[in-house]
Amino acid sequence: MVVYDGKAVFEGIAIGKIYVYTKQEQSVKRVKVDDCEAEKKRYEKARETAMEQLQALYDKALKEVGESGAEIFEAHQFLVEDGDFIDSVENIIDTEGVNAEYAVATTGDNFFKMFSEMEDEYFRGRATDIKDITERLLNVLSGASGGGIASDEPVIVVADDLAPSETVQMDKDLILSFVTVHGSANSHTSILAKTMSIPALIGCPVPLSDEVNGCLAVVDGYEGKLYVEPDEDVLTAKKALLQKEEEKKNLLNQLKGKENITLDGQKINLYANIGNTKDLGLVLQNDAGGIGLFRSEFIYLGSDHYPTEEEQFAIYKQVAQTLAGKKVIIRTLDIGADKQADYFELPKEENPAMGLRAIRICLTRPEVFKTQLRAILRASAFGKISIMLPMIISVGEVKKIKAIVDEVKKELDADGLGYDQNIELGIMIETPAAVMVADELAEEVDFFSVGTNDLTQYTLAIDRQNQSLDEFYDSHHPAIMRMLQMIADAAHRHGAWAGICGELGADLSLTKEFLAMGYDELSVSPGRILPIRKTVLETNVAEYKKETGR
Ligand code: PEP
Ligand code: MG
Repeated sequence: MVVYDGKAVFEGIAIGKIYVYTKQEQSVKRVKVDDCEAEKKRYEKARETAMEQLQALYDKALKEVGESGAEIFEAHQFLVEDGDFIDSVENIIDTEGVNAEYAVATTGDNFFKMFSEMEDEYFRGRATDIKDITERLLNVLSGASGGGIASDEPVIVVADDLAPSETVQMDKDLILSFVTVHGSANSHTSILAKTMSIPALIGCPVPLSDEVNGCLAVVDGYEGKLYVEPDEDVLTAKKALLQKEEEKKNLLNQLKGKENITLDGQKINLYANIGNTKDLGLVLQNDAGGIGLFRSEFIYLGSDHYPTEEEQFAIYKQVAQTLAGKKVIIRTLDIGADKQADYFELPKEENPAMGLRAIRICLTRPEVFKTQLRAILRASAFGKISIMLPMIISVGEVKKIKAIVDEVKKELDADGLGYDQNIELGIMIETPAAVMVADELAEEVDFFSVGTNDLTQYTLAIDRQNQSLDEFYDSHHPAIMRMLQMIADAAHRHGAWAGICGELGADLSLTKEFLAMGYDELSVSPGRILPIRKTVLETNVAEYKKETGR
């Protein structure tokens, strides 16, 4: 048995085999081949498939975002068919007698370096395109869809770190737990673990090799430990703990169907945060009153092209219909910073968290934003949808967006397409600026939902992705607590409602505090709903206020 220490980001016990996830680009092996002609044929076939994929992407993008957005796929086609690239790959296969994957990866690396070092800015910019087409060709050659878990039983996923674009491609039914060597407690991998209610460890120095791959292991999300090849004693003890967890869950299940009401009659809505439609089962199982945060950018991260209006409409409609009249708050595209999709071709930035992200992208690429708004509005005819805007810093932004929403509504009217005329529009409060102008903002919108993950990051000036700063990331900081009270008060002064959808909303040690502050809603990982309901049912807000001297 070998034991590794990590930092637990979600409690619980997982027992299963380890699956070491390595990034696609690292997994190319050099294999000697006898039949070089056959390898060249494989490469030729892979080129044909890549060309077809790129043509399909070009056609979709052309319809969706016009010529300027589609050009990139045409450029990639030229690169796939580039004579120098092809010659180099074939030459490596012939001279070294190696597999096509290795020849493509080597050529890709060489060309990437060559382009990156060019004087001309245009050619330097093509380096990332080389990387893209290399990955595409490698995916086609290996038959991979790009990422994912190659296992037919649920596993403990062990990785160096996981980007949202990687987790989005994983089949969630196959994941018992996440263990990463790097990553921060506030990263999206941690959020995903919470959404799925599975134990997860970060900062765990486990080797990413065959030494652990396939081994039986236990993740203890209480102690923050990973046991590889556990002793009989440890295994028995952990199995018993797992059994206890099940019993606890059964007790909580008895709270299903109950109202979220305190002993002195104060009500609160408990909604769920989701990233995609696969989470809907958890929403219903945990008896959520609605969806308070649908992170719609995961649709974009899971796609290799701008999702079309129809693709998005189908997803939003499914969510609205499944929730059958319960509220579904769709957060508009929050891409950028740690959430990158290649086809957006976002500029490399010194400070991505403070860069071109979220609503700033929507305002600078209105055609992408309008496509999403059309899809959301059309889906609003099939349930109770609200629109929520991330990363707002000013009243001017909200006014601009409201004008765009009105424009889209008019277009839908002209097209004879139905939507909810009274659809709610709200904003996330994630920046100190939004807190300071909360009164003015509240006059413009129907609701506020506090994104405490980003609000803490921007208030404390601590990068939420930086693992080495976790000890300074104090989400209970008095500055945050005072802001939360200011936000709820400002909303209520202007007839708007206030909720919290950041991770802090699920902090059971603050549930009473949030009730005392007057919050109307908490939107949390589905697995947190019943534990919070239990606390709400046991709370007397008037007494708590007296105790805390309010
Ligand atoms: C937040 O910032 O608190 C939030 C809910 O948004 P995200 O975590 O997706 O940035
Ligand atoms: Mg945020």
